[in-house]
Amino acid sequence: MKPCVRIAALLPALLAVGAVSSILDMAPPIRGLVLADLRDTFEEVHNGHPHEAIDIMEPRGTPVLAVASGTVRKLFLSKPGGNTIYQFDERGTYCYYYAHLDGYATELREGARVEPGDVIGFVGSTGNADSRAPHLHFAIFELGPEKLWWKGKAVDPYPSLVAAVKRAK
Ligand SMILES: [Zn+2]
Repeated sequence: MKPCVRIAALLPALLAVGAVSSILDMAPPIRGLVLADLRDTFEEVHNGHPHEAIDIMEPRGTPVLAVASGTVRKLFLSKPGGNTIYQFDERGTYCYYYAHLDGYATELREGARVEPGDVIGFVGSTGNADSRAPHLHFAIFELGPEKLWWKGKAVDPYPSLVAAVKRAK
């Protein structure tokens, strides 16, 4: 047995005790996502800033799904990001960031619990996105000890997204 297979078999048990980070067990943020939909744009420069996120092009109104279980920490309307969601995982290790949303799921509130696959919002082009190119801007931040939603270290979501799509097949 290859070591990675052994770890994969242990993953559910490790997740149950919170010993594995949520980025290793992410669900796709869009239903039916395929590998061809993913392009690693983490290191690109967008509007003069490091992008540090992945853009997933989808029709306006496509449901956006929570990628991990945890808590909605902040719903924030920002100039560049438009309607955004900052979601913490169970342990507050990582913050998942969903931006340019057309809107939020009706019941979504700050402090709400979410499970992977829950609809939390809808793809749009709010903020600085081109209105002709609606997309989900998805980022992952590693939170510091102070757990501030606006202050985390960006992690490239691409490998985790690829793994999530493969698992969802
Ligand atoms: Zn983006």
